[in-house]
Amino acid sequence: EVALDLQSVVRTYRQASGSLEVLRGASLTLRAGEIVALVGPSGAGKSTLLHVAGLLEKPDGGSVQVDGRPAENLDDGERTRLRRDTIGFVYQFHHLLPEFSAVENVMIPQMVAGVSRAAARTRARTLLDRVGLLPREGHRPARLSGGEQQRVAIMRALANDPRVLLADEPTGNLDHTTGDLVMGELVGLVRDTGLAALVATHNLELARRMDRIVELRDGLLVPYAA
Ligand code: ADP
Ligand code: ADP
Repeated sequence: EVALDLQSVVRTYRQASGSLEVLRGASLTLRAGEIVALVGPSGAGKSTLLHVAGLLEKPDGGSVQVDGRPAENLDDGERTRLRRDTIGFVYQFHHLLPEFSAVENVMIPQMVAGVSRAAARTRARTLLDRVGLLPREGHRPARLSGGEQQRVAIMRALANDPRVLLADEPTGNLDHTTGDLVMGELVGLVRDTGLAALVATHNLELARRMDRIVELRDGLLVPYAA
């Protein structure tokens, strides 16, 4: 079952110095249950690829399908809905809402999607419990450690039961030991839930724990060869 399909994706940015072709025909197929590491030097286009895959940016060429649904001909409202229903994002910085508690941060996307407050709270507490954060459910992000903040952000990304998880350097802000732990949990969660995940990381040690590694090189995705 294909969860995410990118075919010959092209993305060009216009810059003062001319146009920059960041993606030049990148292709990738992710099956449900598969966790793939995305590597490549800084500036290679990893974030761009994740934005295009996550329907946040439109490609200039090629096609994107999420959960079997082509994104090309959707209007903005339909794209937003498809994104909300099928994709979860995790960033290097947690982007939690500072005025809300941990449990509320995990409830909010569910309520935006139409889930009742009570049901959202129940699910949010179950999710926080899986990463040992139930005792901290009432804390605002500022009172959580970096690792705890990222765990909450990961559970928020999973709150609406997405088909695809896109993560951009999810442990890049954490110290080595914490990053290792959080990435291990992330891999475990993906394996348990059977969603597909694409995880950009600079850390090859972490990348090797995933099912395979793809590298962005010259705007193309190629199997990583050590
Ligand atoms: P990575 O995530 O691998 O570090 P990015 O996708 O962030 O790479 O960036 C790839 C290249 O595209 C970089 O040279 C960056 O400066 C450029 N870029 C990214 N976003 C934009 C934008 N909105 N406008 C112009 N150039 C951009
Ligand atoms: P670029 O510079 O490549 O345009 P940005 O990182 O500025 O990329 O943002 C790309 C898109 O991602 C924008 O539509 C922005 O609103 C969205 N975005 C950025 N951060 C978040 C976030 N934490 N949650 C949801 N969407 C985000």
